[in-house]
Amino acid sequence: MMIRKGRLLTPGPTQLLPSAQLAMAGATMHHRTAEFRALYSKVLADLKVFVGTGNDVILLTSSGTGAMEASVANLTSPGDKVMVVSAGKFGERWEGLAKSYGLNVDVVRSPYGETVTVQQVREKITAEHKVLFMQATESSTGARHDVEGIARFLQGSNTLLVVDAITGLGTTRFNIDAWGVDIIIGGSQKAVMVPPGLAYCAVSERAWQRMETTKNPRYYFDLRKERKNGAKGEASYTPATALVAALSSAMDYLRDQGGGDLAAGRELLINNAEIAAAMVRAASNAMGLKIFSASSPCAALTAITAPPGIDSSDIVKGFRNQFGSVIANGQGEMKGQLFRIAHLGYYDYADTIAAIGALEHVLAGLGHKLELGSGLRAAQEVYAQRA
Ligand SMILES: *Cc1c(COP(=O)(O)O)cnc(C)c1O
Repeated sequence: MMIRKGRLLTPGPTQLLPSAQLAMAGATMHHRTAEFRALYSKVLADLKVFVGTGNDVILLTSSGTGAMEASVANLTSPGDKVMVVSAGKFGERWEGLAKSYGLNVDVVRSPYGETVTVQQVREKITAEHKVLFMQATESSTGARHDVEGIARFLQGSNTLLVVDAITGLGTTRFNIDAWGVDIIIGGSQKAVMVPPGLAYCAVSERAWQRMETTKNPRYYFDLRKERKNGAKGEASYTPATALVAALSSAMDYLRDQGGGDLAAGRELLINNAEIAAAMVRAASNAMGLKIFSASSPCAALTAITAPPGIDSSDIVKGFRNQFGSVIANGQGEMKGQLFRIAHLGYYDYADTIAAIGALEHVLAGLGHKLELGSGLRAAQEVYAQRA
């Protein structure tokens, strides 16, 4: 037997950055002080660079869904017609949220494991749709949606575009200002390597203007109030100060990795996820496994179909019992059928190799026929080519 080191390999929460954990432990400042205002302003400025936007970024003390709810509450009035792109559990979250705010929801739907094309959107959308809500990467299936294509298609229309990029940011290249994305949303427990509890979003001028006339109720998630206070280095209510300190430290780490340039650090983080994802996909194919969203896989995570006769819950258990590592099962009705391995944030070459090596042993233990080392060899070849 060997000791179990306990890697967190799930697409949120993700593995924590040690320097961010230390920053949290030392963060005792009060939120209405000059010291905290300086930190908060610095984090908002860093997030603009990380997101790659000239738009104002809003930070909220909530999980990612809070910023999703804020987008719905601030941009719509009861009875508004909206469009949701849905091909998984997080697309369904947009549907549920929009309905709970009294919206008239049309859905462009694809089966789990597939993406939604611009053509599908084109066929359904009308000038009456006030907002289109979508994911950049659907974390329940591992699929990537075409944010650029849909954004460019919507340019010049009255339909605002809101993108849940909670696993998209830090794993996907965006140029949201050029494409015309009105709100893009991220969360702290994903690529930015800190614990759950913060959501952030960048908001376009068009979206700020829309909020002047919309009628849905909002109080804690009033984005305009948050923007006003953010300009003064403050949050409207008591923010999760320790998480803000952690996020600042994570941005410093990325800036440092980028040789003093935060945007370069973000590019490195995206490349990192892409290489890790390509390694895991190649390894899976070599082990006779099927990638769940093979036609449009994202870099944030890889969803892999459990081999015939094997329940993915047993693969998840095998990782935990043999290696102390946590991977994600399928969500909802996909539970038992697929498992998900994360690449977003603080995972490097060694973590990726470890996950693939562990997967070989777990699958072999469950009776899946494979040659030990076949997945690792394929991953090594990808690394040699890409890195
Ligand atoms: C993690 C995640 C969310 C947010 O979930 P919370 O639990 O509210 O943080 C939303 N969308 C996607 C695509 C996610 O991966």
